[in-house]
Amino acid sequence: MVNLFEAKELTRYFDMGRNERVHAVENVSLDIAEKEIVGLVGESGSGKSTFGKTVLGLHDKTSGMVKYRGEKLPQKYRSADFQRLATKMQMIFQDPYSSLNPRMTVGELVAEGIRLHPQLSSADIKEKVALWLNRVGLQADHMSRFPHEFSGGQRQRIGIARALILEPEFVVCDEPISALDVSVQAQVINLLGELKESMGLTLLFIAHDLSMVRYVSDRMAVMYLGSLVEVGKADGVYFDPKHPYTEVLIGSNPEPDPNMERNRPSTAIQGEIPSPVNVPVGCRFANRCPKVMSVCRDITPLLIPLKDSDREVACHLYS
Ligand code: SF4
Repeated sequence: MVNLFEAKELTRYFDMGRNERVHAVENVSLDIAEKEIVGLVGESGSGKSTFGKTVLGLHDKTSGMVKYRGEKLPQKYRSADFQRLATKMQMIFQDPYSSLNPRMTVGELVAEGIRLHPQLSSADIKEKVALWLNRVGLQADHMSRFPHEFSGGQRQRIGIARALILEPEFVVCDEPISALDVSVQAQVINLLGELKESMGLTLLFIAHDLSMVRYVSDRMAVMYLGSLVEVGKADGVYFDPKHPYTEVLIGSNPEPDPNMERNRPSTAIQGEIPSPVNVPVGCRFANRCPKVMSVCRDITPLLIPLKDSDREVACHLYS
C-alpha cells in the first residue's frame, strides 16, 4: 500500500513562560496508507488532538516533519499553505456547536471553503451546498437556518458537510462522536463509513471509545503522555494488547452490553497521568504500570517492531 501520510518524530511543545514547557507531543512517527483508517486512542491529556492539529498545520511543529504524498509540509503554515492544502486535508471537530460560527447560516458555513474557488459562481456554490446537505442526511432548505436550530447530531452532520465539500483525501476526525448522545453516535459513524467508502477517504480517527475505534479502524495507535506506546492491526491491539497501558486502557473501557458490563471485574487504571510539564525520566507509564521493573525508571523504551508480528510496542518487557 502507498503511504498517503507520514509523520516522522513529530514534536509539539507549548512554552508556558518561567521555563515551563508542555511536552504535548514528542517524537511521534506514524504512517497512514491510502484509504486506511487509523484509530488514535488514549486518555484525556495524552496529546491525541494536539497531534491531529499539528499534522494539519493548525499548530506549528516544534520539530520533526510531516510528509503528504511524499511532499514535506511546512513547519509553520502561512495562509497560502492552508488554502492549497484545504482541498487535500480537512478536520472534523469534536464539538460541532463551538466549531460552527453561530452568526452564520448553515449555507454560509458549509460554503465557506469552496467560496475560495474562483471558478464557481454563486449558483454553483448553492447547488453544491444543497447536494452536500442531502449527502449528510439534511435538507437543502436547511441552508437558511442557524446552527442553534439543530440537534447535536445534525450539527455534526453540518460539520461533516463543511469539511467534505472540499473533497479532501485525508481527514482527521477529532473525537467526532464524543459530544453526541449514544443514540446518534452510531448514525454519525455509519455516515462517516459510507462517505469514506464512496469518496475513498483516508482517516485518522481520534476517540476515547476503544470498542468504537476497533469497529471503524484498520489499525490502532495508542498514545500515552505525548508518545506512542503501541501500534498494530485494530483487532490485534484490542483483543491481544501487548503494552501494559493498552491492556489497562482496554480493561477499563465500558462494555457496550449492560449485562457484561455489570459482571466485569473493575480494571480502572491506577494513579494519575503525570504532568506533561514534568515528564518522568525512563518509561512515562512507570508510576502506574503493574509490571514496572527497575530499568523502566531509567531508560526510555523505544517503539520497536515485535518479532514475527506487525505490532510495534514501546516497553522493556519486549526489548
Ligand atoms: Fe511497564 Fe516498564 Fe513496560 Fe513501562 S517499560 S510499560 S513501566 S513494563
